[in-house]
Amino acid sequence: MNGSKNQEFSSAEAEVPLVLAESTLDSALVKAYQKSKNQPSDFSVASPASVEFMCKNFPDVTIDKWNNWNWQIQNSYTTFKKLSQVIDFSGVKDFESIVAAKRLPLRITPYYASLMAGSNQTNPIRKGVVPTAYELIVTPGECSDPLHEENCSPAPNLVHRYPDRVLFLATGFCATYCRYCTRSHMVAKEKVHYGLSAWQQALEYIRNNKQIRDVIVSGGDPLTIPETHLEYLLTSLRNIPHIEIIRIGTKAPVVLPQRITCGLVKMLKRYHPLYMSIHFMHPDELTPEVYEACSRLADAGIPLGSQTVLLKGINDNVRTMRQLMHGLLINRVRPYYIYQCDPIPGSSHFRTPVQKGIEIIKGLRGHTSGYAVPHYVIDAPGGGGKIPLLPEYYLGKDGHNIVLQNYEGKRFYYPDEIG
Ligand code: SF4
Repeated sequence: MNGSKNQEFSSAEAEVPLVLAESTLDSALVKAYQKSKNQPSDFSVASPASVEFMCKNFPDVTIDKWNNWNWQIQNSYTTFKKLSQVIDFSGVKDFESIVAAKRLPLRITPYYASLMAGSNQTNPIRKGVVPTAYELIVTPGECSDPLHEENCSPAPNLVHRYPDRVLFLATGFCATYCRYCTRSHMVAKEKVHYGLSAWQQALEYIRNNKQIRDVIVSGGDPLTIPETHLEYLLTSLRNIPHIEIIRIGTKAPVVLPQRITCGLVKMLKRYHPLYMSIHFMHPDELTPEVYEACSRLADAGIPLGSQTVLLKGINDNVRTMRQLMHGLLINRVRPYYIYQCDPIPGSSHFRTPVQKGIEIIKGLRGHTSGYAVPHYVIDAPGGGGKIPLLPEYYLGKDGHNIVLQNYEGKRFYYPDEIG
């Protein structure tokens, strides 16, 4: 894996992931972090469903605590035993072997767990984050690093596949782990954030390669990193003259909307042009909390785009995808990508035929606003990058005309040669 074992900051003891080892850090940074950690949360939105869940399962907790993102991480569901208090596991076998396989860890924030409370195995949110025995079945063609990111890594925690942009894997920690994660080979291996020194070689590489103009800060989930440290990374990137834009890839606004505090947003807006790609899976994720989180980010002038993995039995039909894309626009998030699910080990129960994705795009294009139609892509196994897949709209040439087919299947001709 790319991640260093350096543990300068964070975590570790899984349940308390954001503790700093002060001796190894710049003391001003540590002081700023400690101060921010003790400040009360300014996130105050809690939907009736969240409050009901909180009262039932955390009766001693105040709404202020519930809305504190550190509390959410520290009280996450990380075992089947704890999770079985809130969702129905009757009829589910093989717990032991699923736990023993340790393919991906189990971690779900109390907030996100509230979206599937009392659910059975058909609940779409639950399917995305609760382990099942299906992930023990490994089929041909699956591998732990299908995008061959490790082969394109010139420095620890950095992937350089396209000439002008790099992927900066800032942490291996996520607030909630998706069962279909492309980076299952690296996330949560140490249950910690990487140390600041683990970023230095990657920063040095970016400084020395002037063709890089775009850095995507991802992981893991970079918004689980304490603000002080995230700001250190953003400042370091902004101080590199040839870096034009910074993008952050995250699922925090969806699984941990409480993370989008005024303080975080105020800090982020100092680093414009800054974009954010948010990982959404299903329309049930679009709650009042998520609306608040996205509004704060959008109000700070951060353009928001979505990334959604196409998942069998979760979002693989036109109706669900249309509802999600419409909901995203209401949340001021521009639908950006639908990804074909990557063939990681144990993913066959999530993967749909490619034709299904094309059908979904056909069901969106022309049937709804263009803004609601994302790109459908396969991230080519072996490191080929993102390849777009489109229904057949261009049918070829007929004399001087090109032949086109519209969303209703009707044919039209366009004079392609000016005589
Ligand atoms: S949030 Fe992203 S990096 Fe984290 S488990 Fe989900 S897909 Fe993987």
